[in-house]
Amino acid sequence: MKEALIDAAKNGTKSAQQGNILAARILAETVRSTLGPKGMDKVLVDEQNNITITNDGATILREISSEHPVAHMITEIAQSQEAAVGDGTTSAVLLAGELLKSAENLLEKRIHPTVIIKGYKLASEHALSVLQSESKQVDTTDKELLFNVAQTAMTGKGAESHKESLANHCVDIALNLGDKLNSESVTFIARPFSDVLKTEIVKGIVLEKPRVQTNMPLTVENAKIALFSCPIELRQTDIEAKLHIQNPAQLQAFLDEEERGLRKLVSHCQEQGVTALFTTKGIDDLAQQYLAQAGIYAVRRVSLSQMNRLTQATGCKVLNAVSDLTPEHLGSAGSVKEVMFGEDRFTFLTNTPSAHCATFFVHGPTIHICDEIIRALEDALGDLRSVIQSKSIVGGAGAIEVRLAQKVTEFAKTFSGKEQLAVSAFAQSMEVIPQTIAENAGLDPIDVVSQLHSANSSVENHMGLDIVNATAFDAIANGIVEPIEIKRHAIIAASEVAMMILRIDDILFTGPVATSMPDKIQQQMQQPPGV
Ligand code: ADP
Ligand code: MG
Repeated sequence: MKEALIDAAKNGTKSAQQGNILAARILAETVRSTLGPKGMDKVLVDEQNNITITNDGATILREISSEHPVAHMITEIAQSQEAAVGDGTTSAVLLAGELLKSAENLLEKRIHPTVIIKGYKLASEHALSVLQSESKQVDTTDKELLFNVAQTAMTGKGAESHKESLANHCVDIALNLGDKLNSESVTFIARPFSDVLKTEIVKGIVLEKPRVQTNMPLTVENAKIALFSCPIELRQTDIEAKLHIQNPAQLQAFLDEEERGLRKLVSHCQEQGVTALFTTKGIDDLAQQYLAQAGIYAVRRVSLSQMNRLTQATGCKVLNAVSDLTPEHLGSAGSVKEVMFGEDRFTFLTNTPSAHCATFFVHGPTIHICDEIIRALEDALGDLRSVIQSKSIVGGAGAIEVRLAQKVTEFAKTFSGKEQLAVSAFAQSMEVIPQTIAENAGLDPIDVVSQLHSANSSVENHMGLDIVNATAFDAIANGIVEPIEIKRHAIIAASEVAMMILRIDDILFTGPVATSMPDKIQQQMQQPPGV
């Protein structure tokens, strides 16, 4: 890949534009084989020889380090698609690559980049309005629909063989969290060396931290919770002081005083009604004992992100001093308990007043499989969130792309000359999705696309590719559905970046030693990573 990018950079001597287009297409080609239900996986090996086995476009592109500025722009498409929806990254990058490939053909016909850009702009705007009119409004409490959305997202991923049970878990979470479902509200804990079927969800917060002492209660029902960002110990004075202890009685008196202070802290918590306590800092050994005696469940060194979740879910305020605590600061949870998984002990908080969190315990034979399942679950949950927000879906399996290609081709006929060519080129680029799904499934892409075109022109249904029978079928009726936002964002990101790349006629480096663009890129490509 790196060699190919060096060649792309060298091509810049011929024309910076051609070199840029080539760099973008090389990246799109890298992820091409991963698209769709029969997409292949890639093994990524980093500098420390850590491996990642994945079929996720954003993960692949993130791990490929490239100094080529255009390669960077393409990687950003995947990143922005992932941030906006969480799925559809490969499609977005492929579309950008195809738009640039089509633009290259037009450039060879001596059509000026500004004409191509204008045509692409008009075509992308039209495509977005067609997308809206071709989408279907849905009921977001419909379990079957949500199941189909989750299952479509996980098709062809590492989660494929267990996608049914995993999709059911995702639907359960989506229905539970509703419009509070987002990338923050669901956390994942990988449990390798186990069976995927054992994967389970906890509707609540799971901390990878146990009670500080085993003689604290194992479970606290109807817990009254206090959260602290300070250590549970006697406050250190700001002034440095030296104590001169001259006899054992004085030492004992000093220790007694410290004990009394700690006892007072714990009694204060107890008097305010605290039954479970969490702090981002440590808890003094003696305080731990007193807390245990008071029947308080205590957890120390909670991460800041988990503390935020605890605040939101329990309605509790985080305090910086135990003495400030009053009953109004307390939060609550139906239950706080310690749960053992294998060798590890966790704290579960369930039935919290604002149940905006869920945790997936992802089981799998190896850590790599767990990680790939987590990526698939993230895609599925991203799609569910998107459907819940927009309440609109489109037909997958290439159906919507063929529809868009047809409608934008019709739109092209309203223009003449070179502009028409550019709008048509945009329309045809949409076909890269059904073509690639077919190619990766071992089918003839040209046959498939023409089959889908004729199927879609004769009916109102959204005809996509049935890869099993190599024919066209109604994608929505067959449960292959995707949120409208995946496609909307992919069209916007791919076309904007393609247009931006077409606008570039040279890359100038403004560092201290100015070198020509190709030489500079070539140097960068040959340097070992990280130099
Ligand atoms: P992306 O990163 O773009 O989401 P994927 O590898 O997840 O890439 O592939 C998504 C494409 O696969 C979408 O166009 C989707 O409609 C299609 N797809 C999903 N399930 C099926 C299926 N059962 N048959 C045909 N196409 C499918
Ligand atoms: Mg996907």
